[in-house]
Amino acid sequence: MAQFDLVILGGGSGGYACALRGAQLGLSVALIESGKLGGTCLHRGCIPTKALLHAGEIADNTRDAAHFGVNAQLHSIDMTAVNVYKDGVVNRLHKGLQGLVKSRSVTFVAGHGRLVSPNTVEVEGEKYTGKNVVLATGSYARTLPGLEIDGTRIITSDHALTLDYVPARVIVLGGGVIGCEFASVWKSFGADVRIIEALPHLVALEDESSSKQLERAFRKRGINYELGVRFASATTSEAGVKVKLEDGKEFEADLLLVAVGRGPTSANLGYEEQGIAMERGYVIVDNKCRTSVPGIWAVGDLIPTLQLAHVGFAEGIMVAEEIAGLNPRPINYDGVPRVTYSDPEVASVGLTSAQAKARGHEIVELTYDLAGNGKAQILNTAGSVKLISEKNGPVLGIHIVGARVGELLAEAQLIYNWEASAEDVAPLIHAHPTLSEAMGEAHMALAGKPLHAHG
Ligand SMILES: Cc1cc2nc3c(=O)[nH]c(=O)nc-3n(C[C@H](O)[C@H](O)[C@H](O)COP(=O)(O)OP(=O)(O)OC[C@H]3O[C@@H](n4cnc5c(N)ncnc54)[C@H](O)[C@@H]3O)c2cc1C
Repeated sequence: MAQFDLVILGGGSGGYACALRGAQLGLSVALIESGKLGGTCLHRGCIPTKALLHAGEIADNTRDAAHFGVNAQLHSIDMTAVNVYKDGVVNRLHKGLQGLVKSRSVTFVAGHGRLVSPNTVEVEGEKYTGKNVVLATGSYARTLPGLEIDGTRIITSDHALTLDYVPARVIVLGGGVIGCEFASVWKSFGADVRIIEALPHLVALEDESSSKQLERAFRKRGINYELGVRFASATTSEAGVKVKLEDGKEFEADLLLVAVGRGPTSANLGYEEQGIAMERGYVIVDNKCRTSVPGIWAVGDLIPTLQLAHVGFAEGIMVAEEIAGLNPRPINYDGVPRVTYSDPEVASVGLTSAQAKARGHEIVELTYDLAGNGKAQILNTAGSVKLISEKNGPVLGIHIVGARVGELLAEAQLIYNWEASAEDVAPLIHAHPTLSEAMGEAHMALAGKPLHAHG
């Protein structure tokens, strides 16, 4: 039986971050992974989708080249070559991560693990015992009752990432982050795209103003959507897939992407048997990611916090530091930056207007239109920076729409997490001409001294 300070089940964002930080702090670490080190984010999530979105951006730029006076013509999308590019990015990062784990002396165990006692994980007959065990088994793409994923006509994001062709017509079931990103990619590649969303808005967790801007932008790009209507059924045939909605509408397409959310990977892994408190398959934890069983911790998509890679990283690091006795601060989940990498991007940190009001804040709001920003004009993008602030107090939420605005969250998250007010930010100088100037301008306007803002 091999003994460690830390045994980690699952080598995705949450698990490997915990392993790297634990090893850095002098703990002996075993990291158990049944698939590929790096997990969903590296192999089936963040990285490959963003590579596809970048290829889509190049296609759109080529299509629109004449606007910038460049004579170019988009001939076609070669999905084989796009996949070579995408897989190249993933493979380089995968190699780098494998080297990193090795260099930190983490014991990497390849195989399917199962929790067989509160401090032991068994992998193919071998037992790995830890003073602490961290569960980081992640999540899987869910479907709806009666909607069977066949991997050909009815697919999940896992299948969508390995397609070797661009579908002519595609229906995306679910207008959340993953659905909107694939809708954006496929439209850029020339497909006819329709999103079906049961909630009243696309990216419904975002501030309503951001959702509305994305909807307007998608409409302008020719991405169709049906909002506030539920899916009824899907039937497949040689010719494609026919989707019926509860309002009686029917649509046909080559492909149906089911993007209705992700569920925790927790079944048949021994979690319940060891007495770990669970809810709807999620492992329940306290603010330091401790489960109900002493010595067992859980991080990432397996617990009911935001399903984001950087949240998994942060939770993994926090757990390693807590175990090493550093007493780290609990994570403030409101302060986590969130991005939908569609065209346009939707980025935010902090509270939405609705959340701020529901929590009893007296708020003031300001929206700065990117039309007044030089770089936005150069890039030919539309959008805005919306600030929500406590009256005479700190900024409570920042919501941004436009091309490349995800990068603006680097500053936005400092403003939110350091509880800065508009008056604190207004004097900071932003380089000209950058999109970041829109952040500066918004805070200047909120502080009562607008420069390039009308009204
Ligand atoms: C299409 C898509 C796009 C995304 N884009 C983004 C994005 O742009 N930005 C972002 O922040 N997040 C994004 N995400 C979410 C992000 O990928 C997840 O939040 C993140 O991967 C969660 O990390 P994790 O460690 O909890 O789980 P995972 O990354 O799922 O890792 C869990 C690992 O555990 C392994 N495992 C499971 N069970 C066992 C077992 N019994 N034994 C051994 N190993 C096991 C799995 O093989 C897997 O490698 C995206 C997700 C998807 C699906």
